[in-house]
Amino acid sequence: MTPFSYRCTDCGRLYSRDEVRYLCPECGKSYRPGIPLLGVLEAVFDYDAIRSAFDRAHPDWNLFCAVEKEFHPPIPVGNTPLGRVDRLGAELGLASLWVKNDGLNPSGSLKDRASFLVVAEARRLGMDLIVAASTGNAASALAAVCASTGTRALIFVPEKAPKAKLVQMVLYGARVVPIKGTYDDAFALSLEYTEKRGGLNRNTAYHPLTIEGKKTAGLEIWAQLGFQVPEAICVSVGDGVILGGVHKAFVDLQRAGLIERLPRLIGVQAESSDAIHRYVETGVYSDAANPTTRADSISVTCPSNAHGARRAILDSLGLTLTVTDEEILSAQALLASRTGIFTEPAGATALAGLIKLQAGPQRLAASGPVVILATGHGLKDVEAPLSRISIPPAVEPSLASLPL
Ligand SMILES: *Cc1c(COP(=O)(O)O)cnc(C)c1O
Ligand SMILES: [Zn+2]
Repeated sequence: MTPFSYRCTDCGRLYSRDEVRYLCPECGKSYRPGIPLLGVLEAVFDYDAIRSAFDRAHPDWNLFCAVEKEFHPPIPVGNTPLGRVDRLGAELGLASLWVKNDGLNPSGSLKDRASFLVVAEARRLGMDLIVAASTGNAASALAAVCASTGTRALIFVPEKAPKAKLVQMVLYGARVVPIKGTYDDAFALSLEYTEKRGGLNRNTAYHPLTIEGKKTAGLEIWAQLGFQVPEAICVSVGDGVILGGVHKAFVDLQRAGLIERLPRLIGVQAESSDAIHRYVETGVYSDAANPTTRADSISVTCPSNAHGARRAILDSLGLTLTVTDEEILSAQALLASRTGIFTEPAGATALAGLIKLQAGPQRLAASGPVVILATGHGLKDVEAPLSRISIPPAVEPSLASLPL
């Protein structure tokens, strides 16, 4: 670990590590559930210390980590494979296309990275209850990591979350409270719970270490490409915290003098859940009134990290776009049939965006590496692709029953 402070991403005030826990005490006063978070904190490290200690031959990622190693949960998270996908790349006119398969985390999604760090922080603080609101994956992730440490997890999820995700979190031993309402309702209730009854709140972006946890995906991409900054990284966007975390990875590397430029971040949202996209395009924020997308993990009315996500896109000279559910499900099938990677609809949204981008005037140049972040495993929601495919009927086990 390297020493760090927290800085408010809105007013710039600096706080020591244990002076604050969630939002900036000043800017957070204006926050109320139902608007994007205000006063989100970012960890600022001693970048000179990182620069002098970092060695590419033996990278010590703990230098970039905001919690001491002794508190890390005993469950391996991250270090997911980054693979080159030439068949798919050729179809998209990209000579160097890669997929980072984060569905291979223990609970099957990138959310394990955030949960890992927040559980580590709870152990440092000696807290034994962690509370979260989730569309499903953050809850499964928290439940899995808590199972490895014996920490209690209390989870608020929309009752309509995909079955497999609900099964996971119950099986991991969390206390699961399905909510008759949306993810945004669950978010508000979990804040009220930790304010009035206690526990450490793991809500995305609200706890600053969720962003730091997700950052590790970006650090790994850099290392796995042979310490090269990709041209672009395509990320599906719900609350905008994965996007913010990947951006933070490259910002940290740049501040430490280890890289010279940022990758362009391509943020992709579902058409019905497009609050961040419209915010980037117009500079004016408004909710996505009716986020009905089948990509449940990115179905959000009011993205908690809307402000940070917009800054990440602008700062990286990136862009956002939206795709329909039809495009998402066909990207999911394309990825599966061209690469062998089965990712849930939210994970395939990044590819759906890249396909759309490559068909238009802003298409990416063919040369540099482009990375698609596949954020969750396909088996988490088999109902979604089942709406477009049919499983062949059974036949008698004889050669005669097989058509030629
Ligand atoms: C949470 C999630 C996302 C979106 O991440 P945000 O930080 O909410 O933008 C994308 N894909 C999957 C599989 C997720 O679980
Ligand atoms: Zn502030």
